[in-house]
Amino acid sequence: MPCTVINLGITAIGVWVLWRLSPTAAAVFGGVAVTVIFLRGYLVPGTPTLTKRYLPGSLLKRFGHGPPSRHGIDDSVPVDPLELFGGANVLIETEHDVVLEPTFEQRVATRLAAIEQENLTGALAELLAVPPERLSLDSSGDVPTVRLDGRWVGQWESRAALLTDIAANRELAETVPEWADFSLDQRSGLLAGVRACLTHCPVCGDDVELFPDVVESCCRTVDVIAASCHGCGARLFELEHEETIA
Ligand SMILES: [Zn+2]
Repeated sequence: MPCTVINLGITAIGVWVLWRLSPTAAAVFGGVAVTVIFLRGYLVPGTPTLTKRYLPGSLLKRFGHGPPSRHGIDDSVPVDPLELFGGANVLIETEHDVVLEPTFEQRVATRLAAIEQENLTGALAELLAVPPERLSLDSSGDVPTVRLDGRWVGQWESRAALLTDIAANRELAETVPEWADFSLDQRSGLLAGVRACLTHCPVCGDDVELFPDVVESCCRTVDVIAASCHGCGARLFELEHEETIA
């Protein structure tokens, strides 16, 4: 939408300039331009590349293309997952990696299968600790989006990622004694950390791979570290990464 507004602004300037030369040409240009913007979202060819190169990050954030804010309603200090989960037998360090402890990972998968049978908005309300009537969940597209009292508050990488957070939240509430003491923002960060350490997909059980990727939006491309399932293709984790990944 912000990109569309920019392009409509460009169109308005074009119409204004042309109007002084030929009102007919201005009307034709305006009609064609609005049609093109309606059909493909932008008017100027190469707009994504141009904005990626020249619009500063702080400006892009205002246009909704900054680092994805997940479901943070509270800005608190993040908690180190390694420190917290290492002692609770949730995470284990192997020679080359940090992964979920296999029985914990299996318990999350079992819970996820049960959540599939529940009302998803109700389960989400439990995760976010808010009354379900204040929430609306749009899970029709690839990226589930949640609104609180009609206001956008966050989104997940996929439906599988959302279900994993709900399942892991329930499992951690029984595994980590201080889990309920953390703020929503802290729990969100920790749950994302859990998803980053999955070795098997909690939906289909196939292998999960963590890899560098590039995500494109209409205004720029973003380097990310992502985790996806080999079997069902679910995107389970994504984190913007500004440095080159070796
Ligand atoms: Zn899968």
